[in-house]
Amino acid sequence: MYSIESTKNPSLPDLGQTGRILVVEDEDLIRDMLVLALTEEGFEVTSATDGRQALNLLCNPELRQGESPFDLIVLDLMLPQVNGLDLCRLLRHQGNHVPILILSAKGSETDRVLGLEVGADDYLTKPFSMRELIARCRALLRRHRLNGYSPPSPALQFKDICLYPQECRVVVRGEEMVLSPKEYKLLELFMSHPRRVWSRDQLLDRVWGSDFVGDSKTVDVHIRWLREKIERDPSQPEYVITVRGFGYRLG
Ligand code: CA
Repeated sequence: MYSIESTKNPSLPDLGQTGRILVVEDEDLIRDMLVLALTEEGFEVTSATDGRQALNLLCNPELRQGESPFDLIVLDLMLPQVNGLDLCRLLRHQGNHVPILILSAKGSETDRVLGLEVGADDYLTKPFSMRELIARCRALLRRHRLNGYSPPSPALQFKDICLYPQECRVVVRGEEMVLSPKEYKLLELFMSHPRRVWSRDQLLDRVWGSDFVGDSKTVDVHIRWLREKIERDPSQPEYVITVRGFGYRLG
């Protein structure tokens, strides 16, 4: 079921080739396979069999805030003691931005979105190919190192809408929402300034640019499209509110 295939490629730069990986998995067979495969690929691997053991390994009092004893965590979701989602949430809450790859037997969209929402970086559903897992670990390490370990900018949240500026992603009531670039920019602007009222001209200026030649009705049209995507009832908006005589604001 879990085949080990080598993905070594000596021509690749070293950015994702080495690193300290913590494997958190309660199923002995899968954990042993992961440790073996990752070690053979040249990683330094430590394993934990439940969430509490993982926390003990991660929360070393001698580490500075945000510092992690591992470069990557491969994390099973269903774990005894502390489950994977809670562990993930806790680490991010502590300011630990170590890349996390979630493994789960569940494959539904909701689990995936939930996993990413609590701060995981990637998600793989069991059964997975070891080759793909290793490739994803390398990609995560490479991305993290290329970014110079800079923590991602925090998500903007308003009621049950989450916006992730670095990934240009929007999650509405737990579901990923696809917005056009203008709709996204409008929402990002509103969510970055939750109490501010924006006139149509200000929105045109900020979202379309000062050299945009057109009617301020353009704004109304895009607001309507945005509402159709994010509002429960677009005719009774609760997120993007019309302020009569002025413009729009976040509700
Ligand atoms: Ca499990």
